[in-house]
Amino acid sequence: MTAAILPLEIDRDSCDYCKVAQERADYPLYRAQCRGCAVRSLACGPMFFQSGLDGSLSAPYRKALCGIFGDAWRQGHDLVKAEHARVKAARQQEVAS
Ligand SMILES: [Zn+2]
Repeated sequence: MTAAILPLEIDRDSCDYCKVAQERADYPLYRAQCRGCAVRSLACGPMFFQSGLDGSLSAPYRKALCGIFGDAWRQGHDLVKAEHARVKAARQQEVAS
């Protein structure tokens, strides 16, 4: 049986883990039902990283975006980029303090 990663059964935009993650750059916990966690996991994950190296969205990354955002996957990618920038800035702030 192939691991069925998508579609996720997302039923919320944010959660308690998302809240903690706003204060800790590399908070390691995620909820499968949460869109905010899905965005954060993509922003910190290898598919987004590889797409950045390649300069184009890889098929697996785009599939993941579609699984979360459906037809609005482009806007989802914008959210992932914004989350990546937020986490990166938060890491630098933690190193500086
Ligand atoms: Zn969450």
